[in-house]
Amino acid sequence: MAQVVGTLAGPLPDLERVLGRVRGPQPGPTVIGVGGLHGNEPAGVLALVRVLEELGRRAGEVSGEFVGLAGNRAALAEGRRYLGRDLNRSWTPAGLAAAGEAGVNGTSEDPEQVEFHSALTEIMLEARGPVYLLDLHTTSGPGEPFSTVMDSLRSRKFALGIPVPLIVGLGELVEGTLLGYMAKLGVPGMVFEGGKHDDPSSVDASEAGIWLALAQAGIIAGDAFPEVRESRDRLSTETKDLPRALELKYRHPISEGEGFKMLPGFRSFQRVGEAEILARDRMGPVRAPWGGRLLMPLYQAQGEDGFFLIKEFHPSWLRVSEFLRRAQVDRIVHWLPGIRRESEGRGMVVNRRMARWFALEILHLLGYRKEVDQGDRLVVLKQVE
Ligand SMILES: [Zn+2]
Repeated sequence: MAQVVGTLAGPLPDLERVLGRVRGPQPGPTVIGVGGLHGNEPAGVLALVRVLEELGRRAGEVSGEFVGLAGNRAALAEGRRYLGRDLNRSWTPAGLAAAGEAGVNGTSEDPEQVEFHSALTEIMLEARGPVYLLDLHTTSGPGEPFSTVMDSLRSRKFALGIPVPLIVGLGELVEGTLLGYMAKLGVPGMVFEGGKHDDPSSVDASEAGIWLALAQAGIIAGDAFPEVRESRDRLSTETKDLPRALELKYRHPISEGEGFKMLPGFRSFQRVGEAEILARDRMGPVRAPWGGRLLMPLYQAQGEDGFFLIKEFHPSWLRVSEFLRRAQVDRIVHWLPGIRRESEGRGMVVNRRMARWFALEILHLLGYRKEVDQGDRLVVLKQVE
């Protein structure tokens, strides 16, 4: 087990890539916990270390393996989101190849990504069962913990083991995430957002998320570890007034030089009205395009997402969608006007001029997500279930 010196209040220097691993005597699933893919988010690292230490004392009761990985070590050492580029935005085959070519001559994130990737590959090769990804993050603004998934059935099931709001639709709005990369490899996973970066309760919430994820994956028996029940109580109490299922509907992208500044006082899950002023930039006020709930208002200098808007949906839709996917209704969805199968591959092409407005909603229910958006022509791709 690596010694971690540092607190939430300051940077975390000299981290080992592998924070620790607990391999049980019995084979079983592998959960890969990642903390600090963003260097100003140390809470996940601290929570991983807590659980690794406790679980290490009871390794005999573990079936499978739990590994904790540090994300952007160079940025964690400086307490910044990233030094050269965001380490959670280039997890694509092209991004990985570029990082490998750049090596030590590129930004410090290039060797970080290469090294992280080889640690990841090694763990997956040594796995004795299914692999799950638990990617721990925190936010610059305040708000309750939540989870997000790439919306495969297995990812959903994994995430629903943690009683916090589940947000789907992330993959369509944010490209190149580690979560998306692993989903394409068929590895179910979730991002767990523990709360505000510097709030000590974010470490506690992240720790609770880890215990519940380990139980949900089947690495530990929920009734043998009191931490599992305590974690469930803690998180359900903290999020009891929030909807169980929501969809990301809108992202406000920002770029350097725009002078984006969120107005003070907003928090995740807060309701905002249509046209409400949320922020200001060089062009003037930035308004909510419609009424809904706010997610992740940006209160830090680095980042490309000003804020997100989310809409709740009834959790029974998750069951409807599971039924439709299991029944493989997508085999006939191209009978709908304006939808045809791609000549090769797993995709569908939607002609927006012909397709009814609900075509994309139906495809979402069936497990398809937007891949290429060319205005009138939209290509959607089936998630690996
Ligand atoms: Zn983050």
